[in-house]
Amino acid sequence: MGSVKDYFSGLGSGFLSLLKGMQVTGKEFVTPKITEKYPENRETHHIPQRFRACLELKYDDEGNHKCIACGTCERNCPNGTINVLTKMVDKWDGTKKKKLDKYIYDLGSCTFCQLCVVSCPTDALEFSNDFEQAVFTRSKLVKQLNYLPEKPEPEPTEEEKAKILAEKKAKIEAAKAAAAAKKAAGAGAPAAPASLIDENDPKVKAALAKCAGDPEKEAKVREALEKAARLKAEKAAAAPSAPNANNENKKQN
Ligand code: SF4
Ligand code: SF4
Repeated sequence: MGSVKDYFSGLGSGFLSLLKGMQVTGKEFVTPKITEKYPENRETHHIPQRFRACLELKYDDEGNHKCIACGTCERNCPNGTINVLTKMVDKWDGTKKKKLDKYIYDLGSCTFCQLCVVSCPTDALEFSNDFEQAVFTRSKLVKQLNYLPEKPEPEPTEEEKAKILAEKKAKIEAAKAAAAAKKAAGAGAPAAPASLIDENDPKVKAALAKCAGDPEKEAKVREALEKAARLKAEKAAAAPSAPNANNENKKQN
């Protein structure tokens, strides 16, 4: 008798369970669909703007980007994903200027951390939300972001040129006057130590040649070279005394 009761009880609970399942199915049947029919809906598909798909250089309407080739993004990238290649271009006044040659980005190793974007001093980078980046070979993930031809360095007008040259000349005159005043003030002071810079060293020659026509820059470079030469000389002077000091210690022991 008990088994018949169990049979009908099981049948009832099974039926209830079936009804519950049908209720869920029925509810989903009338709920609006959220499944995207991709790629059929490519035209209307919405991707949130904040989605990070691929790094890009921002271009304005005239085809200019703001990258100054400083390399900050490259240094801040934790994965070595960015390679900023630079070139030197001639300026109208005979000096040279560093400019962006190729901005290489490897999407395959990017973790989309956005450190490059936030560290850029000129706000030159952004992430696009173009998520369709699938390719068949890894090499195709390496992209050159400055895809438009680089524009030549703009040349100032004759008026601007005259103004810039006058400012430069004034700076040189001021520097000369300051140097002369310093010399006059220190006439009674002990003579400054002789320079340790080896003017015949090709590296020194190259460094000084880069600042031709810019006395301020040359003074800075000379100062740095002087410092390096002094450190080198001090190290060389200290090197032979180290073993002697050790010997003294040994003798005392
Ligand atoms: S993108 Fe920005 S940080 Fe990177 S090299 Fe250009 S200016 Fe410098
Ligand atoms: S998002 Fe991060 S990993 Fe990708 S290039 Fe920028 S710094 Fe490198």
